[in-house]
Amino acid sequence: MLLIIATMLLSCDSEEADYSIMTVNGAIFSTDMGVTLSHEHVMVDWIGADSTGYHRWDRDEVVQRALPYFQEASGRGIDTIIEATPAYLGRDPFILAEISRLSGIQILTNTGFYGAVENRFIPGYVYHENSYEIAARWIDEFENGIDGSDIRPGFIKISVAEEQPLTTLHKKLVEAAAIAHRHIGLTILSHTIGDIPAMEQIEMLKQKNVSPKAWAWTHAQTGTLEGNVEAAGMGAWIALDNVNFNPEQEPGEHGSIEWYAERIMKIRDAGFLGQLLISHDAGWFDVGEENGGAFRGYSDLFDFLVPELTDGGFSDEEIMQLLITNPQNAFGIRVRVL
Ligand SMILES: [Zn+2]
Repeated sequence: MLLIIATMLLSCDSEEADYSIMTVNGAIFSTDMGVTLSHEHVMVDWIGADSTGYHRWDRDEVVQRALPYFQEASGRGIDTIIEATPAYLGRDPFILAEISRLSGIQILTNTGFYGAVENRFIPGYVYHENSYEIAARWIDEFENGIDGSDIRPGFIKISVAEEQPLTTLHKKLVEAAAIAHRHIGLTILSHTIGDIPAMEQIEMLKQKNVSPKAWAWTHAQTGTLEGNVEAAGMGAWIALDNVNFNPEQEPGEHGSIEWYAERIMKIRDAGFLGQLLISHDAGWFDVGEENGGAFRGYSDLFDFLVPELTDGGFSDEEIMQLLITNPQNAFGIRVRVL
């Protein structure tokens, strides 16, 4: 495994490269990722960093609740799912490893901290540590495993407050992500609502000599088309990640299937199809809810969005680019500097 990582870190950033991908059950080659959903959830615990922990849920119960949705996804041809629940918000790599073994779906977990929702999910020590100390924690999870396991993160997940300039604390998270990226080459997914914090993060990364190619604008559907295109023009990944069919929505309304198809086509027409990631942001076992509450499956994208794109003239190759090639390039482990 280490040899694969070492080889990858040395390789350059080219379209045809075969990168290393870190799953919860070890490293694989990016060409073995197959059809990939780039942002989903197995479990979320909303109680907050002060009170969450492994004592809050029964692992067997969560596995039994989530497994049928993974089996369904496997039956639909999905090979890999990126699980984007951060630490202190219900991340449990042991559950992910078990679901992966039982369903055959490859799963990636993450390292990082989630700053949105008024820092409810930020543990107290983060306030007192500097960006290097925070980055060291994330690097340690990648090098030595998460919480005493040999399960390693496959990407960095951070989150910042919405529609406003970054706070000091959130700047520290972005800085820590840049530092960690330069050490371990993991891609940064940043929950970012609106254009303003997206552009600010891209500028910060550039100041730290990290290429925007190492950063994905998670929830880019909350930004304007112009903002998406501008960020893509600087190299960022544009993650349109809340594709769900809602019968109550008017066709074409923001967030509807037609809206997603149109946004994807416009970004393609601007020349950035190769930087788009699409997913449902679905799931999940809601800790504290009876039987985990309502669980959304991972298939609307195939049932509704892909047909809409095909009707709009998307070729099979373009669909494959969105679901296979782009995730390989996005999550392939390598240091991306300017
Ligand atoms: Zn999410």
